[in-house]
Amino acid sequence: MALNQSSRIELLQHVFPELTKKELQELNDAALEQAYIPGVVLCRQGEIGRRLFIISEGQAEIFVETDKSQMILVKNVGPTDYFGEMSLINDAPRAATVRTISHCKTLEIDREAFVAVIDQNPALLRAIVRQISNHLRNNDRIIIRELRKKNEALNVAYNNLSSQEKLRTDFIATLSHELRTPLTSAQGFLHLINRGAMQGEAQKTALEAVTRNVEKMVGLINNLLVLYEMHLTSPEYSNVNFEKIVQEAIQEARTMSGAQPTSIKFVQQDTLPMIRGDRNGLLLAVRSLIENALKFSQDNDLVLVNLYLADENTAGLDVVDQGIGIPVEAQKHVFDPFYRVEGSGASRLFSGLGVGLAISKFIVEQHKGQVVVESEPGEGSTFTIRLPLLASDE
Ligand code: ADP
Repeated sequence: MALNQSSRIELLQHVFPELTKKELQELNDAALEQAYIPGVVLCRQGEIGRRLFIISEGQAEIFVETDKSQMILVKNVGPTDYFGEMSLINDAPRAATVRTISHCKTLEIDREAFVAVIDQNPALLRAIVRQISNHLRNNDRIIIRELRKKNEALNVAYNNLSSQEKLRTDFIATLSHELRTPLTSAQGFLHLINRGAMQGEAQKTALEAVTRNVEKMVGLINNLLVLYEMHLTSPEYSNVNFEKIVQEAIQEARTMSGAQPTSIKFVQQDTLPMIRGDRNGLLLAVRSLIENALKFSQDNDLVLVNLYLADENTAGLDVVDQGIGIPVEAQKHVFDPFYRVEGSGASRLFSGLGVGLAISKFIVEQHKGQVVVESEPGEGSTFTIRLPLLASDE
């Protein structure tokens, strides 16, 4: 239904409040009414416009394309909003695209009709130009705000990328270092053995050292492979005895780190039922915690491994050490892949690629459990696993 005369004048007055009744009447004579279905582009960015649009009904969206793939929504417009005002004044291309998002009705004024009106009335031109420039400034503000937001998002992405890049280069340096040390040692011994410089007991000791170094390298590479493959392979669940797994993990960690047997104390407070789990995964998860506890402790410090029922449905395991502890800031990162605590040369003093805890966390969470750390720098750390005791037939 067409608008009546007074609604048209009201609409024009809303858009151009500074105009007199007579001026509004003149504009009204030049205005046409149109109706659009949703999805129609009323004006397109970059094209020369020749028409001012005032919406009397419905909704449209104004957006700016910054390049082929990016569109910034400037705003949605509805009744009494207007756009395309610049085209009344010059031949500049449209700064934005406007598309209807519902059925829309508009009042439109063509440049020719507008020019005919203002030719008679230069004061009208001045009033309109003043108003149009305010309107444009507001739109610019909105675009600048959106661009600023995008810029901030880009900065965040850039910072993330640079910290990932740092992690990557640090990792390569650490890996080279970690492999070179045992490799150089094994190479040295093999060289001496080959030259016949080592015989009898000395040769036996040398071969043991070579074996230890090779095992160390195999261990490092295995950990990397586990980290790489753990997202690709599915765990093999069966009914397992968690207590046995913990004892086995203690044994393996002892052998691998060469620690004195007395430095680990195992305390089992409760009898645990069988649980449903992936034996090898859980063994690895627990062993990593114990290996770390040994690695970051002094020779005579005690490592306590405490197994208990946290509640009737949950097994709890604490691995407590009295070692160097972890700075508060680093505590939230220690489970990230390749993360190692930096500063005061700590990461160089202790071997490791920063993958053990990431593996533990992944496996424990795969079992719907949790692993957390509490630590006091200089005092020691406690890593706690909470593992749901799913009934063995579930
Ligand atoms: P890594 O193989 O380097 O030990 P992890 O993922 O097991 O890698 O541990 C990540 C980092 O967390 C370690 O490099 C170390 O800085 C810190 N960390 C882990 N466990 C302990 C602990 N028990 N005491 C002190 N620092 C620890």
